[in-house]
Amino acid sequence: MSYEDVKKVWMNGRLVDFADARIHAFSHVFHYGSAMFEGARVYKTRNGSAAFRLDEHIKRLYDSCKVYRMEIPYSPEEFKAAILDTIRANGFEECYIRPLVYRGLGALGVNPFKSPIDILIAVWKWGKYLGDEAIDQGVDVCVSSWNRMAPNTFPAMAKATGNYVNSALIKMEAITNGYTEGIALDNSGRVSEGSGENLFLVYGGRILTPPLAGTILPGITRDTVITIARDAGYTVAEQQIAREMLYIADEVFFTGTAAEITPIRSVDRIPVGPGRRGPVTERLQKDFFGLLSGDIEDRYGWLTPVLVEARV
Ligand code: PMP
Repeated sequence: MSYEDVKKVWMNGRLVDFADARIHAFSHVFHYGSAMFEGARVYKTRNGSAAFRLDEHIKRLYDSCKVYRMEIPYSPEEFKAAILDTIRANGFEECYIRPLVYRGLGALGVNPFKSPIDILIAVWKWGKYLGDEAIDQGVDVCVSSWNRMAPNTFPAMAKATGNYVNSALIKMEAITNGYTEGIALDNSGRVSEGSGENLFLVYGGRILTPPLAGTILPGITRDTVITIARDAGYTVAEQQIAREMLYIADEVFFTGTAAEITPIRSVDRIPVGPGRRGPVTERLQKDFFGLLSGDIEDRYGWLTPVLVEARV
């Protein structure tokens, strides 16, 4: 990952140079993880650059902030315009988008109300999250010894930066033990999600994914996959999943803005099916990437044109 191309960062209503995109060391967020954020992407489609499901990402950001009693001093439309301005200011035809709403410099007690709501929007170029070959070849993952947060501890439906200390434990353990990613179980021992991805299985002729019951992020790619899978004629069920189903499923895959649709070829060194990407995963990838490239018509209205002027 490189930030060399990043020219401008949006901070509290102004586009500032990358080098000036700083926050004070006494900011509440730095001490207590008090920020809500998003991760969205701009794709270069055959009809020009377009942000994928930007309205849904903005909606989730406002929802996250609502849970944490943070009021964003802009309307969602203004926020969207600011995101599009930031992309254009950087001239990126393809990029990752990272809006962040955080508690800034105020009072360094736990009470967040005494610190202001500050906002930044960062964009940068980001390639394949789980490796260049992951999309075709699949990744090797483990079941983490770390659980995902239990319901009513850290609200999993809010995308808070603080939640990602748990994700970091899952990711570090996986990498240290030679895996690309870890799958966390919830506090009752059922399958939850990866450190930064939702999870799907193909089992018994159906596509299964854990429900929104307080241990997973309501992924926008998850919703995308549920929609395109149903439209392709598959049965999709949101249901609790036992750990051992990961080992006996025909196919397992991750979804996420960063991970897109990434097949999982082994779990704890046990091959998933024949140990390579399965036909359902491949079909869903085809539909998904077809939408993102513009080869398949966007009948869902998921693409927002960015109208970027490419840098020369
Ligand atoms: N779960 C977690 C913990 C995540 O961080 C992400 C990435 N935002 C996801 C799932 C996937 O969500 P989305 O498809 O909206 O990127």
